[in-house]
Amino acid sequence: MQVALDDYAWAAGVATDLVNTAPEVWRGEDKLPDLASLAAFAELHSIPVAPRTGDLRAVHRLRATVRDLIGHPDPAHLIDGASALTARAGAVTLVDDPTRWAVSLRPGTSVPDVLSVICGVGALGVVHTLGAERFRACSAPTCRGTFIDTTRPGRRRYCMPALCGNRVNVANHRARKTSAQPPGFHNA
Ligand SMILES: [Zn+2]
Repeated sequence: MQVALDDYAWAAGVATDLVNTAPEVWRGEDKLPDLASLAAFAELHSIPVAPRTGDLRAVHRLRATVRDLIGHPDPAHLIDGASALTARAGAVTLVDDPTRWAVSLRPGTSVPDVLSVICGVGALGVVHTLGAERFRACSAPTCRGTFIDTTRPGRRRYCMPALCGNRVNVANHRARKTSAQPPGFHNA
């Protein structure tokens, strides 16, 4: 398997999805509680490796490391941390009749190692191309999620836009309804 170095946006998306399975984001509920959920996560993100016993703990450790990286977006810290994540990989090479940079993973590489390389490549690609300010905490007041913004304008605000963005919209709508004054109240 290879992890393409020019597809940093995909890799950063996997890193964001991984950190947002953490119990801190779900009021204590871990969204990767067992090997079956890890296998489903790997499949969803096109990682062609099956998890083995022991991988779950390693992925939980990796998740905490990546969450810490996104939460402290100092460029030097990001580069050091992300580089360490890629150290578990194989060799950097060119693939597809040399059109793409990629990390060629050693045969038998485990799910935690593949995810580690993906998170490292995603973080380095974003620091290099978009800058450290793309590593952010979710803007929803009740959410503890974090994310890497790879959108072109760079104005993403929520870790899970469909969920957290929608929650904020609903809360704002309720607040507007509650504070709305009765008709005829306004003098001006
Ligand atoms: Zn959120």
